[in-house]
Amino acid sequence: MKQGIHPNYSVTTVKCACGNVIETGSTQQNLKVEICSACHPFFTGKQKLVDAGGRVDRFNKRFGKK
Ligand SMILES: [Zn+2]
Repeated sequence: MKQGIHPNYSVTTVKCACGNVIETGSTQQNLKVEICSACHPFFTGKQKLVDAGGRVDRFNKRFGKK
């Protein structure tokens, strides 16, 4: 691997709008999200209109399975 072409990837905390705090690996620090695994309808089973502005899409891109 070449050096200097990879951004720093470290553990950071992600704060969700519901108050949940997640530790995750990211190139950014102190992230904030609108939705997390604790309030995501997929996990809570509650179907809410939360996809305004593609939030779920962005969530899945950032935290979804690869
Ligand atoms: Zn949440």
